Amino acid sequence: MKGEDTMSSIAVSIRGKVRELGYDRIPELFEKNPYMHQIYPTEESMKALTVFQIFEGNGEWFDLSKKPIERASFTFGGSEKKTEGYYITDSCIGCGSCLSVCPQSCIITTGIPYVIEQEHCLHCGNCLNTCPAGAVVRR
Ligand code: SF4
Ligand code: SF4
Repeated sequence: MKGEDTMSSIAVSIRGKVRELGYDRIPELFEKNPYMHQIYPTEESMKALTVFQIFEGNGEWFDLSKKPIERASFTFGGSEKKTEGYYITDSCIGCGSCLSVCPQSCIITTGIPYVIEQEHCLHCGNCLNTCPAGAVVRR
């Protein structure tokens, strides 16, 4: 979803099972996207098209306009939710090494173990690579 530039855009990715619905929805889609008439100007040329539907799967949105960035995952069509990213286990000794390498400053230090704010995490893995206690785990 385009903003004025990359840093004001929101990325949405969707993965899942796809089925073909055929031509029936094409006129409706043209109504919502009038520019399509310029690419397929005649009814005959429109007949070359078909509609696919992603009916079951999961996805993620990623908002670069926020500081720190915001992300969230979702499922649809009854798909099972997968957990991704990094978390800090009880092996954390509170040394603070991960704080200086986290580009999103999204590690909470109010207690030990430290906690990663999942909605702001970039999944870069810097904390895992830096942790001297092996306390950061990738899901
Ligand atoms: S994976 Fe990257 S962004 Fe996420 S908490 Fe670790 S260092 Fe920060
Ligand atoms: S680097 Fe590892 S042990 Fe140190 S505070 Fe971060 S998670 Fe805890």
